[in-house]
Amino acid sequence: MDKEEIINKLLNGEMRLYQIDKFTENATEALDIRREFIEKYCDCELEQIANYTLDMEIAMAKNIENPIGTVQFPIGVAGPLKVNGEYADGEFFVPLATSEGALVASINRGASAISAAGGANARVIGDKMTRAPAIKTDSIVEAVKVKTWFEENFDELKAIAESTTRHGKLVKIDPIIIVGNNVYPRFVYSTGDSMGMNMVTIATEKVLAKLYDDLGVHALALSGNLCVDKKPAAINIIEGRGKSLVADILIPEEIVKSKLKTTAKAIEEVNTAKNLIGSAAAGSMAYNAHFANMIGAIFLATGQDVAHVVEGSLGITTAEDRDGDLYFSVNLPDVPIATIGGGTRLETAQEGLNILGCAGSDNVRKFAEIVVSTVLAGELSLVGALAAGHLAKAHAELGR
Ligand code: NAP
Repeated sequence: MDKEEIINKLLNGEMRLYQIDKFTENATEALDIRREFIEKYCDCELEQIANYTLDMEIAMAKNIENPIGTVQFPIGVAGPLKVNGEYADGEFFVPLATSEGALVASINRGASAISAAGGANARVIGDKMTRAPAIKTDSIVEAVKVKTWFEENFDELKAIAESTTRHGKLVKIDPIIIVGNNVYPRFVYSTGDSMGMNMVTIATEKVLAKLYDDLGVHALALSGNLCVDKKPAAINIIEGRGKSLVADILIPEEIVKSKLKTTAKAIEEVNTAKNLIGSAAAGSMAYNAHFANMIGAIFLATGQDVAHVVEGSLGITTAEDRDGDLYFSVNLPDVPIATIGGGTRLETAQEGLNILGCAGSDNVRKFAEIVVSTVLAGELSLVGALAAGHLAKAHAELGR
């Protein structure tokens, strides 16, 4: 069947988009036909979407269905950003993909203040990926039996889960929550350098097969939302998910003045009023100024699952005036990231990770420390700018 025939069949509804691949030589040919069909169907030109360099044969194996091209975002760099981590130790230019003007410049300003002050301390304090199925039983009596089964057979269940993966390790099944006749065991894994969602889903599924064999009880849903994947949740904040990260810096008074044009006292005041009290008044789950901006831009540049920005947006910023010097910190309990697997295998993502020396194995904790230091830089810059504005206004009003 030639191209015109396929497009006509698509337009007439005689063929589905996913069936094109059966009649074409390769993924690229199918992609072009699919895009031409969309151009005709929607009466629009897709000249820019048609421009790409990614290997679509590879992308189609794991990353996309029904491709018609790619989307482009400008990518900039902020830095050098000095990081004093346990895994990342040195100065880094951080790749940031965004369409929000002034974001890279702002992070760059924060990076400059941090580097001048000796660098950000950065640590990974938790490292886990979770999956929590919803299991239906007859009553609370049977639900408790299921809970006990998980608790008493942990060693065997760990071996079953780990038989599906070389890098995944089942650390614990905890908490196990019972609501009515439903049971929600939260499987907690370490997943090496991968983000791990596919890995832990496959491993958990195998354990659930054993549950059915032993007790005849089956899961209603492999994910019962106690995981909690791609949604903001208190359990993720308290227990942690993905990488749990902290970073801080002590910035001497002169640098606060020269680089941020403000004072530690003004920054502390703005942080308390905005990030702490304002967030509390709003019932917010995120006590920060804009973690999502830095997380989103790094995620896009390095091929992370962008839906996880919602998790990376959680956390708290603190600021303290220490006799004129500024102590500033961020805490991010829930940052699912990877240097292997998922979207990190895409060519542009590999290049983004290469800018940081973080592509591939044994790099995810280094990457995590750079991510949290970049968030520190962005927070410092925005809170600093608000404080500088507030200070300038106060000075103007006082005629100084
Ligand atoms: P994946 O690419 O499916 O799995 C990672 C692979 O890398 C595994 O096959 C693992 O092998 C291998 N690997 C090689 N070296 C490794 C190392 N050093 N550390 C860790 N693994 C290594 O990716 P994933 O991280 O499990 O899942 C990410 C994907 O899940 C993303 O595309 C995301 O969009 C998607 N996702 C899925 C769900 C879901 O519910 N299924 C939910 C959200 C997102 P071994 O397993 O043999 O170790």
